[in-house]
Parts: sequence; C-alpha cells; structure tokens
Amino acid sequence: MHTLLLIFTLLQALASPTDGSGTFITDLMSRMTLEEKIGQLNQVNGGDIVTGAPTSTQFGKELTAGHVGAVLNTQGVEKIRALQKTAVEQTRLGIPLLVGLDVIHGYETLFPVPLGLSCTWDLPGIERSAQIAAAEAGTNGICWTFSPMVDIALDSRWGRQAEGAGEDPYLGSLVAQAMVRGYEGSISSDKKSWKKGDIGILSCVKHFALYGAAESGRDYNTVDMSRLRMYNQYLAPYKAAAEAGAGSFMTSFNIIDGMPATGNRWLLTDLLRKEWGWKGFVVTDYATIPEMKTWGVGDDKSNTQRAILAGTDMDMVSECFVRHLSTLVREGKVSEADIDQACRRVLEAKYRLGLFDDPYRFCNASLAQRLTYSQAHRDIARKLTAESFVLLKNQDNLLPLNKGTRVALIGPLADNRQDIAGTWSFSAKPDKYKTIREALAACGDLTLVGCCLGCNVLDDAHQQQTVSKGHGLTPIPWVDETESNAEALRIAREADVIICAMGESAWMSGEGTSRTSLEMPAPQRRLLQQLSALGKPIVLLNFAGRATCLSWESEHIPAIMNVWFGSECADALTDVLTGVVAPSGHLTVSMPKSTGQEPLYYNHLNTGRPVADDAPYQVFTGNYIDCHNGAIYPFGYGLTYTQFAISAPQSTQNGDRDYTVTCTLTNTGSREGDEVVQLYIRRTGALIALPERELKGFQRVHLKAGESTTVTFRLAPELLSVDATEAQGQIIQTSDFSHLDIMIGLDSQKLLTVEGLRSKV
Ligand code: BGC
Repeated sequence: MHTLLLIFTLLQALASPTDGSGTFITDLMSRMTLEEKIGQLNQVNGGDIVTGAPTSTQFGKELTAGHVGAVLNTQGVEKIRALQKTAVEQTRLGIPLLVGLDVIHGYETLFPVPLGLSCTWDLPGIERSAQIAAAEAGTNGICWTFSPMVDIALDSRWGRQAEGAGEDPYLGSLVAQAMVRGYEGSISSDKKSWKKGDIGILSCVKHFALYGAAESGRDYNTVDMSRLRMYNQYLAPYKAAAEAGAGSFMTSFNIIDGMPATGNRWLLTDLLRKEWGWKGFVVTDYATIPEMKTWGVGDDKSNTQRAILAGTDMDMVSECFVRHLSTLVREGKVSEADIDQACRRVLEAKYRLGLFDDPYRFCNASLAQRLTYSQAHRDIARKLTAESFVLLKNQDNLLPLNKGTRVALIGPLADNRQDIAGTWSFSAKPDKYKTIREALAACGDLTLVGCCLGCNVLDDAHQQQTVSKGHGLTPIPWVDETESNAEALRIAREADVIICAMGESAWMSGEGTSRTSLEMPAPQRRLLQQLSALGKPIVLLNFAGRATCLSWESEHIPAIMNVWFGSECADALTDVLTGVVAPSGHLTVSMPKSTGQEPLYYNHLNTGRPVADDAPYQVFTGNYIDCHNGAIYPFGYGLTYTQFAISAPQSTQNGDRDYTVTCTLTNTGSREGDEVVQLYIRRTGALIALPERELKGFQRVHLKAGESTTVTFRLAPELLSVDATEAQGQIIQTSDFSHLDIMIGLDSQKLLTVEGLRSKV
C-alpha cells in the first residue's frame, strides 16, 4: 500500500504543472496527515450570509485544528485577514484559506444582474465588468467568486434566470468565457509579476449541470433530460468555460439520470474531466451532500463516499467530508489516493493564486479603499447599465424626453435605494447609491413634479416583506392601496409624462424565487390601468430579473423599457430618459405573451406540425387555442432611438462548410446609435432534428445618422459541426446535414435569408 501510494504521488507530481507547484505541493502533501488533507476539502460558512441550513458552530476550533480549507460568506478585509492569520499562524502547516463569495455581478460597483448584462451583447464590456469585480473583491479579501453562472434557462418562471446569460448556448458560451477571462486573466503565482490594481481571482462555473432545466421552473426541482438534448442545448456554456481555463466548478442542486449532480460520476469525471480534459477542482453547492439523502438517495456517509468517488473535491458547508471521509478510508471504501487527488487540486488552486507566497495578497485595505466603488469603476458600470436597457416599445418616439418635460415618477422602485442593486448583491452599499428620484432631480433636465410609491409591490403583505427581509433588505413599505393610488393620480395629473418604475423588486428573482405568473404583479397593474385612463403618455421602466409577461402593458402603455438593476442604474436611467445615451440592449430571453407558453425559447425544434408564430388557431397543429405561439418580444429584440435597416445578405463559400456572409447595415434614423446584427442558421436533412433557428454570430455596430457599413461574418466549419447524435448508445459529433439556411436579422424573428444557398451542401 505504501509503495503504491509513493508511486501514485510521484506520478501525480509528474503530471502536475511545470511551474513549480508540482514539487511544492508534493512536498507539502508528504507532510500532511490524512485529517489535514480532508480539512482542505472542507469549506465552512463564515456566517455573514446563510442561503441554506446553518452550519458549523465550532468554526474557530475546526480552523486551528487544520480542518478547514476554505470559507465562504465572510466579508470585510480586516475580518478576512484575521481568519487568514489564524490559518497561517495557528495551524500546524500554515496553509492559507480560499475565501469565496458570490460576486456575481460586481462587488460594490454593481453591474446589471447577469441576465441584463448579457443583453448588452458586449463581450469586451462583460469581460471588463468581471475584471472590475475581481479588482474590488480581490482587494477586500475575496480570492474566489462563485461566478459565472452559465445555466441555460428556458423557463422564465425560474427565478435564477436572472443569474445567467439567458436561453442561447452560443451567446451563453461566449459570455461564460468573457467572464472567466475577466475574473482569472490576471491570476499569477509569480510574485514578481503582481501588479497593483490588476487582480485576478478564481472563478467558479455553476451550477454543473442543467440546473436551469428544473421542471415547471420550480427551483431545485427534478431535471430529466436526454443526452442528446444536453449536448445540443445545455452543455456548451459549461464546456466553453472549462476551455477558457476556469479554476473551479460547482455542482448543481438537481438530479441527472436520477442521481444528484454531486454524486454523479458520469457528470463530474467522465464528462468534465475525461471528455473535456478540465483540470480544476469541484465544490458542491450549499449542502448538496446531505440533500442527497433528502432526495431519497443513501445516507450521509454513503453519499460522502458517492460524492468523492464521483469527482467532488470540496464540500460546501455540510461537513460531511470531515465527519465521514477518514472512516471511509479506514474501511477501504475510499482510497487515500482519492483524498490526495482532491487535496492536490485544491492546493493547486491556492498555489496558482499566489496564496503560498503571500497569504494576505487579497487583503489589501489601502488598495481596496482606492479601487472599491471608484469613480472609474462607476463610470464603466453606468455605461454598461445603459447599454443593457432593452427598449421594447417607443410609440411616437416618446423617448427620449424633451428638456424641461414635467414628469411624475411613480412606483415601488421610484425612490428605492435598497433594491436598486438587484439580486445577489451581498457586498452592496445601498447608502452610496442613488435612487431614480435623486438622479432625475440632480440632472436638472426634467422637471420632477412629484414622486411616490403609488401601490404595493405584491398583493400579499407577508410575501412583500419576506422577499426582501430574507436577504437582509428593508422591505418596501406596505401602503394603503386606495390612499396610495390617489396620491399617484394626483401627482400624475400635474405632469406631462408619467414615468412608472415598477415590476420586480430585487429579490423577486434569484435563488428560490420561482413565479407561476410572470405578469406585472396585480397591485402595480391596477395602478397602471388607472394611470393609463388619464390619457397621458406613460413610460414604463420594467424592473426584472427574468423575462416577464407584458401583454396588457404592450397594448396600453406607449413606451416600455426593461431595466435590470445595478448600483448605477439610476444615473444610467437618467442618461437614457434624457437622451444623453441611447438604449441599445437586445433580449437574451424570449418574452412571452402568456406565462402558459413557458418554457418559451426561440431555438426550439420545428415539430411535425408547425404553425407560424402569429397564425390564427388551427386544429391538429402545434399551437394553443388561446394564445399565439410566438414571443411578444423575441430573443435578440431591442429598439433604440434611431432606426437601422439591413440589406439582403450575401454569402460566399470558402470551402467545405465554411462561409463568409455579408450584409450592409444602415442607420436610417436621425441620430447615432448602436445595433446588434445577428446571424442565424437552420440545418435540415440531418441525422437528428435540429432547431428551427440557431444563433451563430453577432456584432455590435455603432453608426452615425445616415451612415452605412458592411458587416461580415465568418461561418466557420466548427460552428456547423458541433451537433451530436447518438450511435449505439454513444454520443458522437457529426456535421451530417444536407441543407443549410443562413439568415441575418436584428432579432431572431424577422430574418433575411441568404438567397440561392438553400441547396445541398
Ligand atoms: C447557491 C450558489 C451559491 C452558494 C453560495 C447556493 O445557495 O445555489 O449559487 O454560490 O449558495 O452562496
């Protein structure tokens, strides 16, 4: 056994990176006891934020005993420095801690929630947002963020749609890679190359896998999916993030093939490590090892065994690893080599982060003070936030508002500081952020005749309280509806234009926030109806962390814009309402006409009995009696303050399954603006059914009024050969199809097809 272990350790050292970490870690591990190695696999909750069952009460004791390798949810640079000091000075081997936090759309400078950020289609901007998040978090003690969340989310009832990049695997993959690059780009274990303010932290790709496919959009629910669908629709963003070099992955809460992800060896070993060749470490999601028992699988001890043997390396908060692993080794159910492998992966991450060189390198109070919520960071966030707003409707060019317009600002989010940053913003400092009322008043371009709540957020006082309180926010006050509506109507009567800041409060999206109705919550809709009866122009700022259902609003409200939170949201809104900046976001999720259409997504299969999106009801076809099939606002859709037109696209074939596609984009309006030109394909005559439309390229283009440009796409073979099919029970790659349509458009619905191409390829 001993000789085997020695051989294994030597092999590990040889297989390890050549940057010196291999020898360093081998030497360190040769001095570690089994308990100390297991300790490295244990992550405890520092206690500032608890998103599940509370954990260890013995944190301090566990830490000094060397039984803790990582913490999460502790905040404050001095507090973290003190923890690190304990780990370094009071444990036998002085191994520093990994300190993790959900920095998922920024630290103190908060960008729009990730779904909103994806609506910018601005990959350099998204990468920059992750760099800024890394710089702020990485000087305030955090060296590991639980981001990016790359779960494809087709069902908008699922509240965690807010945390990802929407419904498309191609866009989702590029966003995932941009975020990993942004977080990790500046990681270096070489002390000489450390630069001030250029800080890389470890990313964590989550939730592996398929978490966004929870049945009926109810969080934590069953996932049951064919391999084919996984490969073709869901796995691409995880794989892309792995290829971008993400340092860690987090397992998901759901089951796959009947086995919770944390114990799923096919997922964590066969797919992630063997097939994709990924080398980082895997952490569980919050207490998913004991949750396996709740699912009905095994008990804590056997699930600990399942988890480690499946390829899970670190146990987030449940302490099952520290409680059961050494017994399992003694009983021969888990080998010491399995523990070594997991421990080595965790230590490699620490080495890569430079923690062995300087355990305090992420605790830089003075730099943190200079960087955190700096003007430079805020300026970038303000720009990206404005880019993320999706203008859905702008009848008679109501927006932008003319200088001096007398406006009434109404709604639960009109003067709200607590919710403005959005879901999952634990490091937010609301006191520093402006409310929309304050930003509008400060800009001076519009005349604010009054501002009020006008109504409640929800019809149920308890629910309204709980969604905020559960996350430490002061709930939006509960008001008397009659009085509050009357106040809103009084203010509205004095104004030329009514601006309504309504929709979801911050924690109506995020974890555990599924909704069965995506309509504007009832009390807000009732007020909108009364305001609309006044006959004055209304601008609806629809706050959301998911695709919501705005059928009534689309018919009755002249201007609607989706906004996605962020610390600079109020200033960005002022920029856009006054026309200093034009909105330029495009949806990355399909907005339904009715919640009953969910899951609604543009890249669906055609069915054998398709019906056009807006066709009247037809019997024995794939439609609803009471609703058209299409989205009210489709994937890729978004207006701005000018208009764009595209010419018929042309294509030339460069080689086998290799095309160059061009079209001319013209700004036909009277002011400059940004547009996102999108390329879609459809393949038929394949071995399996493929989606009606698939995004395969996009470009954000800025044009002055009247200006034209040629937009060129390369449709390279790898974009056409990623589909999988099944042969003898195995998934294989194929580019077998006989017809190809290439389409270009400014959203996924209105597309121009390259003529003459629809021939055999
Ligand atoms: C969430 C994860 C998160 C973790 C740590 C869990 O409840 O599902 O996304 O990273 O908590 O806060």
